[in-house]
Amino acid sequence: MKIGIVGAGTAGLLTALDLCYGLPEDTEIDLIHDPEIAPLGVGEATLYNFPASLGTVDYSHAENRDDLDATAKFGVKFKNWKGDGFVPFFAGSHGIHFNTNELAGFVLPRLKEKYPNFKELHGKVNGINGDGDQVIIGNQWYDYAIDCRGFVKSVDNSLPIHVNSAIVFDSMEPCSWDYSYHIAHKNGWMFGIPLSNRVSFGYLFNDQITTEQEAFSDIQRMVDEGIDGYTPRYSSRPDNFRHYNFESYHAPSIVNRNGNVFVNGNRALFFEPLQSTSIGAYGFINNIIMDAMCKGINPNPRFNKLVEECILFINLHYRNGCDYDTPFWKYASKRSQDLLFRYDLHNYNWEYMIDTFQMKERMYSNFLYECWQ
Ligand SMILES: Cc1cc2nc3c(=O)[nH]c(=O)nc-3n(C[C@H](O)[C@H](O)[C@H](O)COP(=O)(O)OP(=O)(O)OC[C@H]3O[C@@H](n4cnc5c(N)ncnc54)[C@H](O)[C@@H]3O)c2cc1C
Repeated sequence: MKIGIVGAGTAGLLTALDLCYGLPEDTEIDLIHDPEIAPLGVGEATLYNFPASLGTVDYSHAENRDDLDATAKFGVKFKNWKGDGFVPFFAGSHGIHFNTNELAGFVLPRLKEKYPNFKELHGKVNGINGDGDQVIIGNQWYDYAIDCRGFVKSVDNSLPIHVNSAIVFDSMEPCSWDYSYHIAHKNGWMFGIPLSNRVSFGYLFNDQITTEQEAFSDIQRMVDEGIDGYTPRYSSRPDNFRHYNFESYHAPSIVNRNGNVFVNGNRALFFEPLQSTSIGAYGFINNIIMDAMCKGINPNPRFNKLVEECILFINLHYRNGCDYDTPFWKYASKRSQDLLFRYDLHNYNWEYMIDTFQMKERMYSNFLYECWQ
């Protein structure tokens, strides 16, 4: 079997790690990417599947964290969410926070050294043709391709996801958090992700409700106030602020009609980045892809369930609002209540996002019953 993975962002690299490890060793795996097209450069917080996948090329957090500017992530701390509290991973499991720009330099040489069946190829891929018995990428033929080329242009913006803009900036003052921070503010929420040498912040809001100017002045207020005694030290130069506009999206199908071209990463789905659902989902998509290739299991019902769980999981965070009774939170909590009302949440294990029953209990107690722990 011969497989072509296109893209060397976080999703393409994770796919290469999982497929090299999970498929028989006579499977030829090529990773094709264009070094002139930079990865998105966000997505620094992960779930427990990510260090586990890195572990297949011998990543150990104790020995290799400096290679990725990484810190350990034992859960997510929430602030102003009708209280403050923590959603932990199960004892013994952990994710990491890492520098996405260092990932290819760490993963690719190790994949080449460990797997003689793995190759890295450079080149711009304009099309992936899976119409025939085999897939054509450039002048190469494959049995299967996985398209990890990042965001698609056309999106379905009718999904019940509530923010569509992020202003991301770095504070050069490292901190001692071994968790990601999610802080509700009047226009949405802000993440704080601690790396070994900086903290990256992302102020998320809905540009139909909040102007960019309002967002910037609220960022100023939040950093002036500090976070649990931590004062961000950041440059106010415009190039320290990256603005991302996005619409939440999921592919209508995880695979083409011929069953030989799959999608992963932002090409497969993108929802607002509460609790790192994306990287967790990419790992599940890799399992879905391998089961389709090797066992003939229909991938779409499992992909559809994953999408449904991600959307419901994100909406749990909005259902009861937060400490701010503002137009954004009224809008988001109303939409979230309308959605969640239609589902019996007891039927969900949240198996794609949550590693234990205890974590599920903690999510429900925090976000449904407002008993913060
Ligand atoms: C503000 C923000 C914060 C986020 N935070 C998190 C988070 O904390 N945790 C999380 O899990 N997710 C987060 N996400 C989601 C995040 O976007 C993804 O996890 C991550 O960026 C995945 O990217 P990707 O690999 O799909 O695409 P990209 O990073 O865009 O990589 C695309 C790759 O494809 C290659 N490529 C593109 N076009 C071609 C072509 N024509 N030919 C050849 N190669 C090509 C590029 O060279 C690149 O290697 C966040 C998103 C946003 C917007």
